Amino acid sequence: MKEISTTIFKCDHCNKNYLRKYAAVNHESKCFHNPTNFQPCLNGCKHLGREDVTIEVDNGHGGYKFTANAFLCKKKNQLMYPLSAKRLHDKYDLESHDQIQMPLLKCDDFEKDDFISIFDI
Ligand SMILES: [Zn+2]
Repeated sequence: MKEISTTIFKCDHCNKNYLRKYAAVNHESKCFHNPTNFQPCLNGCKHLGREDVTIEVDNGHGGYKFTANAFLCKKKNQLMYPLSAKRLHDKYDLESHDQIQMPLLKCDDFEKDDFISIFDI
């Protein structure tokens, strides 16, 4: 039997473990338990809805389109992507598709929904 000792990198917020430091740093920057990543929209805002959007991708070989389900702030009338979709933003440049990142920590338009249906999310 081999015994191997190695360094483990642990998220400060949710205790997930990583073998690579860059993976742990990347995770912590998006971890839902990291208080700096609090997204009020996803915590019961009554203005949050969903809308199908068409994403066009120009890959230099004619491009392609696909349909995705995006978040919509009905108060701002603004399409938004959550922090967890930042990787998709980097890939598809969602801001050129009229989407912005959801606000972090505070949103001036946040209003708590008294009743959240599981069918609305
Ligand atoms: Zn974490």
